[in-house]
Amino acid sequence: MEIRFSFEELEIQKSVRKFVKNELLPIAREVDENWALPDRVREKLLSMGILRTPFPEEWGGAGGTFSGMIIALKELSYASLVPSWLLFENFMLAYPISQYGSDFLKATYLGPLLSLESIGALAFTEPDTGSDPLQLKTSAKKVDGGWLINGSKRFITNSGICDQMILFAKAENSVAAFLVETKGKGYEAGKRESFIHSKGFDNGDLYLEDYFAPDEHVIGDTSQGFEILLKTETLGKIAFCTLFVGIGERALDLSVSYANTKTHRGKSIGHRFQMTQVKLARMLSKVEAMKAYLFQVCSMVDQGKDVFFEAAALKLFVASEIKEITSDAMEIHGAYGLSNEYDVAGLYQAAISAQVVMGSLDIQRVIVAKGVLSRGVSGV
Ligand SMILES: Cc1cc2nc3c(=O)[nH]c(=O)nc-3n(C[C@H](O)[C@H](O)[C@H](O)COP(=O)(O)OP(=O)(O)OC[C@H]3O[C@@H](n4cnc5c(N)ncnc54)[C@H](O)[C@@H]3O)c2cc1C
Repeated sequence: MEIRFSFEELEIQKSVRKFVKNELLPIAREVDENWALPDRVREKLLSMGILRTPFPEEWGGAGGTFSGMIIALKELSYASLVPSWLLFENFMLAYPISQYGSDFLKATYLGPLLSLESIGALAFTEPDTGSDPLQLKTSAKKVDGGWLINGSKRFITNSGICDQMILFAKAENSVAAFLVETKGKGYEAGKRESFIHSKGFDNGDLYLEDYFAPDEHVIGDTSQGFEILLKTETLGKIAFCTLFVGIGERALDLSVSYANTKTHRGKSIGHRFQMTQVKLARMLSKVEAMKAYLFQVCSMVDQGKDVFFEAAALKLFVASEIKEITSDAMEIHGAYGLSNEYDVAGLYQAAISAQVVMGSLDIQRVIVAKGVLSRGVSGV
């Protein structure tokens, strides 16, 4: 399948690639280790307006395509997960506000989120569940002029550094989505989690004790929380998979370069060993397949199609392919593949997170199975 991008999308690709090559790649290790962008890189990232791409112009967006934003995220992820993950988290708050929020919420929060002046987050997971909204314990109780929220959340990315988040809580008999200001009274970020896939990543617990959310901070109406969660996670899954397509391209490029330069008995391992060639060929076909599938699903989003099943299938596919791609890359590098001096080791570790974040693989299997059982494959 040939992926055809529009002129505007190709321009985005060109400018982000230039930024990645000249400014991000040279400092990618430092950025990854601190999980923070130096000011000048951050400013350049802001000026490119990547997150504005798919949002409407009237709310500070650029009126472009979802594919345009995804192209940029993929290019960034080639060098480092930090900027793309930062943009991804803001998307997870900006998207539900743009789709379900009142004009007040759009006018107040979208501009700063899209320009990265404020940092966003999404808080669903709790100590007892990350998959089942019926088991949510965080509760919202109606009081005069708003809601009192009590409970705790776990594994929330940016919980210690974000300005606002979309938070899901049980309100009366349904799940509701609230905009929570982290500077508000009753919000407290807790223990920071330490993960194998990244060192500086901000992720941890948060606690709400009689946190007051005014009525105008309810996103959608109070019965729509589950629908908002599913729609946001659907596009979020696609954006999240993009990070691993970028990683896959990098793992392949690093492996090709290593296979061409590492020699055995006077010949490069890429030319001497068929086993190395087999791995490179396998990696290439997997990377190309991930890319084609990713942009096929993005094209469906841009056509206004419901991609609930496709996003889950994409996640299943990408999570398993990236594990094998980075494992092949590590093997090609021999012992150096396990050394922190070499970038492939970091890619291998990062790849693992694709299996868990944005929904476990079993849950994706359940979704995909439901889709295929109900409507088949060919559409005939
Ligand atoms: C790095 C990182 C970042 C994260 N960021 C965020 C964030 O920003 N916001 C947020 O809300 N969450 C976040 N999470 C949480 C993540 O989304 C959850 O961990 C994930 O959804 C799985 O939930 P769980 O760990 O509670 O597993 P559980 O839901 O307890 O599942 C445990 C096991 O049971 C299986 N299982 C559960 N239900 C079913 C079912 N119905 N059918 C079949 N099998 C089932 C699962 O597949 C899994 O194997 C993050 C996690 C990580 C690791």
